[in-house]
Amino acid sequence: MKSTTVHRPSLLGETPEAIQQAIARFNQPRYRGKQIYKWMHLKNADSFLEMSDLPLAFRQQLEAHFAIKTLRLVVREVSRDGTEKYLWELHDGLRMESVLIPDGQRVTLCISSQVGCALDCQFCATGRMGFSRNLTSGEIVEQVLRAQQLSGRRITNIVFMGMGEPFLNYPRVIQAARILGDPEGLAIANKRITISTSGIIPKIYQFAREKHPYGLAISLHAPNQALREQIMPLAEKFPLDELLASARFYVAQHKRLRITFEYVLLKGVNDEPAHARELVRILSPIRCKLNLIPYNDCGLGFQAPSEERIQKFLEPLLRAPFTVTVRRNRGNDIQAACGQLYVKTEAKKRFIIQPAVSES
Ligand code: SAH
Ligand code: SF4
Repeated sequence: MKSTTVHRPSLLGETPEAIQQAIARFNQPRYRGKQIYKWMHLKNADSFLEMSDLPLAFRQQLEAHFAIKTLRLVVREVSRDGTEKYLWELHDGLRMESVLIPDGQRVTLCISSQVGCALDCQFCATGRMGFSRNLTSGEIVEQVLRAQQLSGRRITNIVFMGMGEPFLNYPRVIQAARILGDPEGLAIANKRITISTSGIIPKIYQFAREKHPYGLAISLHAPNQALREQIMPLAEKFPLDELLASARFYVAQHKRLRITFEYVLLKGVNDEPAHARELVRILSPIRCKLNLIPYNDCGLGFQAPSEERIQKFLEPLLRAPFTVTVRRNRGNDIQAACGQLYVKTEAKKRFIIQPAVSES
């Protein structure tokens, strides 16, 4: 059901200085911006009326002009392994998702940066939806506050690996990361905030030049240009050799950092030992980590390789000078894994939902 209330701008994605500017017309002292910011981020206020150290008339003015939280929780699903998936409805009726993945002391939230995605990677459910719109910085930050509230757990890690391409929503994603990492706010450690891009090269350069302290992951998925173009249409515009050059530039800018390459394993497509050998060749000159992700089936015609094929793929990589990890699937029973977002609730009619491939 679409929301019928008038949409008031949210202050949740704004810095204390920007809040101060937004409230300038109410002639309040200069420290109000920071006070409001702390109420929202440290005390998780749901309404301006709760902000008890602000004058009552001013609280009412704020309530009339601005919003804090604007997401409506449509579905919360909890997996047998503790993974939680939240489906949110935005003020304009569009929907997007976040996934919470507890792992011992570490609690990771996978957040969305856009509704849908324009990049059309062949294996990705979000890509199949097409692009609707960018999320605001407030809508990005709110996913974290609300997940924390709902799960009762403190989120320690953030990955921009939900719906959308973060680097096609660059300023809002960076602003949200800044707010999430702010020591005077939620204070999530900057190095535990990771942005994943499919390879928007000019933005990788910008991100490197601006020396942001957040982690960067590049979705590689193929070891050569021809194959990459087949499964990721954006590779035509952003070729592999230029992408690798931008990755080298990034690590050169950050003396101690590594870059992460993600590689989704698609049976019979990019999972031959020859592909692994190509990976060793192209990635060896880069200070990096390679994260292999067995494909999460979402009915798009691709499959995950068997455990045996994965082991064969790993063999050439044993001699690589970089670290290689294989990601374990989480939240299979609620379709909460990478690339599966939205499939169950929204695209039910368009996709055949198949059980995720089990790992032995
Ligand atoms: N648009 C960004 C971030 C969101 S996708 C990007 O592409 O990097 C996060 C990761 O999940 C990407 O590496 C993406 O390629 C991968 N992914 C997409 N669909 C998947 C699927 N069905 N199974 C496994 N990984 C998938
Ligand atoms: Fe978009 Fe990332 Fe999905 Fe590709 S993998 S369609 S870039 S969300």
